[in-house]
Amino acid sequence: MKELHCKRILITGGAGFLGSHLCETLLDAGHDVLCVDNFYTGSKLNIAHLLSHPHFELLRHDVTFPLYVEVDQIYNFACPASPVHYQHDPVQTTKTSVHGAINMLGLAKRVKARILQASTSEVYGDPEIHPQTEDYWGHVNPIGPRSCYDEGKRCAETLFMDYRRQHGMPVKIARIFNTYGPRMHPNDGRVVSNFIMQALANEPITIYGDGRQTRSFCYVDDLVEGIVRLMATPDDFTGPVNLGNPVECTMLELAELVTELTGSTAGLRFMPIPADDPVRRRPDISPARQYLGWEPKVALADGLQRTIRYFRDLMAMMGRDGQF
Ligand code: NAD
Ligand code: UDP
Ligand code: UDP
Repeated sequence: MKELHCKRILITGGAGFLGSHLCETLLDAGHDVLCVDNFYTGSKLNIAHLLSHPHFELLRHDVTFPLYVEVDQIYNFACPASPVHYQHDPVQTTKTSVHGAINMLGLAKRVKARILQASTSEVYGDPEIHPQTEDYWGHVNPIGPRSCYDEGKRCAETLFMDYRRQHGMPVKIARIFNTYGPRMHPNDGRVVSNFIMQALANEPITIYGDGRQTRSFCYVDDLVEGIVRLMATPDDFTGPVNLGNPVECTMLELAELVTELTGSTAGLRFMPIPADDPVRRRPDISPARQYLGWEPKVALADGLQRTIRYFRDLMAMMGRDGQF
């Protein structure tokens, strides 16, 4: 007999960086977890330790195709998240966000499940207001190299809101800002993984542009806590809610911190800035504080230290150029 509080929870993208941490947290809370992933950017290594868990199930499946399962809650996290990965096959990126959202919303409607969308700060594009509040409509290039991700996620938000309005479904939208931590893909080109991998190999850290652009980095444990709290809000609470760390830093400051924590002596290498790279990004998290009682707790230096330890172990296991 199952415990009364035990829910059947579907996590799409569950073998990815954020999804694997979410699987772990929800299993620890006593739930049944169904992880659905097509392993486009995710890795079996991320969930290897969960495979023998009696409440964990893994299904290889692409969310752009329909899925018929019986669940109580859905966390829709399937989508490549780093610019290098999502620009590799941009049409598939848009399909994953849009067809994936339609299929998961259709599933949620049929089984009357609560559904949460992993949206992104990228819906704000290269923002004209700072910090970004949820009522800001964004400044997004609809035809640039980042559009497959940004516009795909914006369309997914539209679908979530329309399923809510049209069918009265309990949906939740989290706008996630840059998050880092163990299980980030070592070669996904994101700034935290790049800087740490370069520093550990004592290679120069690559700064795109002049390095004065900013981001706000949230440690994965903090983010997952915010996501679970958002799912637990009453049915009539939809958001969108910004989830991220409001402490902003420049890429030069990040490089300095990584250099200090790793002891790298290789210095910096300046490279051209990619097209449409946002200049500034920092979340206003007032609604998250008010409605979820949430704010990040892990300081950047602490989180980076934990992440550096993870990458150091990974490199020792696989070798610098080894397959992940
Ligand atoms: P990730 O690439 O590690 O994880 C994405 C997972 O989705 C991978 O396991 C991948 O194999 C899977 N996937 C991709 N396309 C799929 C498809 N069509 N069908 C089934 N599975 C598919 O990235 P992440 O950082 O863990 O991001 C997870 C989610 O959070 C994404 O939706 C992303 O847009 C969102 N997000 C992440 C961040 C961040 O900083 N990490 C910021 C904003 C939003
Ligand atoms: N769908 C799914 N699993 C389900 C129910 C629906 O994958 O359990 C998909 C199906 O492909 C459908 C989509 O979700 O096309 C949207 O469903 P909805 O009921 O909103 O619309 P439909 O297209 O069925 O009229
Ligand atoms: N960046 C950098 N060096 C790198 C990788 C990224 O300077 O090796 C910069 C990038 O140009 C951007 C910031 O770091 O301004 C964050 O990039 P990331 O790809 O991690 O995330 P996003 O741009 O999606 O926020």
